[in-house]
Amino acid sequence: MTGFSGLADRPQNDHLDAERFVENHPVANVFELYRAGLLVGEAVELPEPDETDGGGRRPVPPAGKFQTVRITWEPAQAPPMFLCPSCGSRRYKLHGTEGRWWCRKCANLDFWSRHKGRTVPGLSRARWLRRRLGASAELFSRIEPRSRHHRRYWRLVIELRQLEARIAVYLGANINSVLERRYGPDPPRRPRR
Ligand SMILES: [Zn+2]
Repeated sequence: MTGFSGLADRPQNDHLDAERFVENHPVANVFELYRAGLLVGEAVELPEPDETDGGGRRPVPPAGKFQTVRITWEPAQAPPMFLCPSCGSRRYKLHGTEGRWWCRKCANLDFWSRHKGRTVPGLSRARWLRRRLGASAELFSRIEPRSRHHRRYWRLVIELRQLEARIAVYLGANINSVLERRYGPDPPRRPRR
């Protein structure tokens, strides 16, 4: 067995990417809101989740529309808990997807950490490419430019870059900071804002 079964072998895995994971969506956390004194009474108005930055961990997205979420206070217990607006279950956290807050189950999210030990699509192929290129085995690490003229060499470099970009997204990494730091800026530089 050659030990690489890359992206091409499992195209179906390729798109259960970042979208599926809790870590890539905004979280409303009962503890934070309680500490901030924002939980009183029977309900809280949560600003609708803004995912324009691809998620992230902003606890309070920019103000826009609000979603009313009921909370429940147990005797002798603080903080209270959210009642999932969709299924009514008691939750310490709600997740923002599709422009609304709901529980992890209703949002159909999974924990990335649960998948950590599992296959990352394209990972073996990326490692194999790195070996072929004589580059460091460390993912995302710099590939030293070489004076090779073979088209095949550059094809592999391009394939590796694309593969690692997808892996970075899959891992929920900040793709720009990872890739720019490691590869250096792209040759046709985009204007910075
Ligand atoms: Zn729910």
